[in-house]
Amino acid sequence: MKLTVLGSGVLIPVPKRGNSGYFLQTEDHSILIDGGSGTLRRMVDFGIDYKTIDTICYSHMHPDHTLDLVPLLFAYRHDPELVKPKFLKIVAPIGFQDYFNRLIEIYGGSVLCDWVDIEIQEVSRGEVILEDLLLICGHTEHTAHSVTYRFESGRGESVFYSGDSDVNDELIASAKGVDVMILECSFPDNLKRKGHLTPSECGLIAEETGCKRLVLTHFYPEILDTDIISAVAKYYRGEVDLAYDGMEIEL
Ligand SMILES: [Zn+2]
Ligand SMILES: [Zn+2]
Repeated sequence: MKLTVLGSGVLIPVPKRGNSGYFLQTEDHSILIDGGSGTLRRMVDFGIDYKTIDTICYSHMHPDHTLDLVPLLFAYRHDPELVKPKFLKIVAPIGFQDYFNRLIEIYGGSVLCDWVDIEIQEVSRGEVILEDLLLICGHTEHTAHSVTYRFESGRGESVFYSGDSDVNDELIASAKGVDVMILECSFPDNLKRKGHLTPSECGLIAEETGCKRLVLTHFYPEILDTDIISAVAKYYRGEVDLAYDGMEIEL
């Protein structure tokens, strides 16, 4: 598997860090994990063909994680190079179908088309099987229905994505022993906000899960000038990296 970071920032514009978006390439699947505004554009920048996406996994419906869905569908409708018919599976938290229906009320006529077949599966906890891949969903503390995703390949490689999250036992249980843990790290320790993580919390979580490698992401501007790595290293002794847009993680 190969994971590319498309956006390691949030909605507040800062240089070189876009809204949340990740692209996971497996043997059989091309998966977009979240996709805030600008995600499609970043895919082009990093040499990824957006037409190959067959699955989208949303962690929650905040705009910095979902806003590029309408542009994606609009592009699929108008791109002459799209291979038709196009099948797109969307895995998303409870409430997504209603969110999608409302988007379609506004944009439906201009974004839907006969050759793009969309299947929506709402998830809260449990497993989704995508041929070569096991996708394990878990609840986390952020919005009422926020989910985490753990992807496990048939070869035993695993990657965990927290989405936006606060500290909670279910997240830790779901990420146990994972190869790569992508964890949000929004604010510095002295500016903790409910529903998000700080570097010390990320360190404690990583140590408890025993993950092999920790990659921190979803940086608000306030945290960017702080020493994130040192704060994490007080609690976690494994490899820690700060995500950047365009970062590639091979598993
Ligand atoms: Zn959020
Ligand atoms: Zn967010």
